[in-house]
Amino acid sequence: AKARGRARVELHDPDVVDPAVGRLRLIGELRRGIAEGELRVHYQPRMDLRGDRVAGVEALVRWQHPERGLLQPGDFIDVAEESGLVRRLGAWVLDSAVAQGAAWARTAGGGPTTEIAVNLSTRQLGDPDLVPLVAEVLDRHGLDPALLTLEVTETALMEDPDAAAATLRALKALGVTLAVDDFGTGYASLTYLQRFPLDELKIDRSFVAGLTESRGDAAIVATCVHLAHSLGLRAVAEGVETPDQRRALEDLDCDMAQGYHYARPLPVDELDRWCAAR
Ligand code: C2E
Ligand code: CA
Ligand code: CA
Ligand code: CA
Repeated sequence: AKARGRARVELHDPDVVDPAVGRLRLIGELRRGIAEGELRVHYQPRMDLRGDRVAGVEALVRWQHPERGLLQPGDFIDVAEESGLVRRLGAWVLDSAVAQGAAWARTAGGGPTTEIAVNLSTRQLGDPDLVPLVAEVLDRHGLDPALLTLEVTETALMEDPDAAAATLRALKALGVTLAVDDFGTGYASLTYLQRFPLDELKIDRSFVAGLTESRGDAAIVATCVHLAHSLGLRAVAEGVETPDQRRALEDLDCDMAQGYHYARPLPVDELDRWCAAR
């Protein structure tokens, strides 16, 4: 009777008994969710700090789970990466975001914006099919490649720097814009940074969070902005939540900012309304 009782518990909530079972179930559900069209893309505006205008958006994936509601990347992106499903997920996000960017570019007045940033995972960066995929998606939707920014984390770049540099050169040859994401959290040396054909440096939110309270964080943000500019890159601050942080970034001559101070990542219709209301 005892054994049967335990078996019943496992059937009802496997993750409580064994996290590996929960993980396997999540992989299966995600595979199904991708196939059945449950993924969504939300867009967070990025502001030009000089002109105070919307300069672009970042595409951020969501999963509209039938029972669990709207899931954030933190709930499933690691499992997608480890299982390899991130290739399918990433291809879907790229396709959606480029289609949306092309639609905005066709809208009279340019829509809310035309520059679209898409995140690439470590595994996508190492995928030999990535460059032809990006070329095909841009071509099929007719989006000017310069309007697509691909964001790669510093950690992903440093996993295999030589291979990453070759892939980034091939992407650059397509005409896309390249950004290093979460800058300051990994260990990219200056030598390596210079070897990648980058256009933009995104300063990690953890430093921006301490910008107005911690002299250490303020020094790191200032150094990142200077470093970006001396390498000919634009500096983007992520996670800007307060007017004080925004003013500090303006004083530091940072080029762009995104964060809850302006807007959270929003579905397309809400973003259109947000832009119209400004
Ligand atoms: P990220 O690329 O660093 O994206 C920024 C994250 O910070 C987003 O979380 C965004 O919602 C959040 N954020 C923006 N402004 C603020 C702010 O002012 N304060 C705070 N506290 N947070 C802010 P999100 O959407 O949960 O995404 C988390 C991470 O998941 C992303 O970090 C990115 O690494 C990954 N991710 C999201 N979408 C994709 C995707 O399509 N493909 C891949 N490979 N990774 C993705
Ligand atoms: Ca990003
Ligand atoms: Ca980031
Ligand atoms: Ca981050």
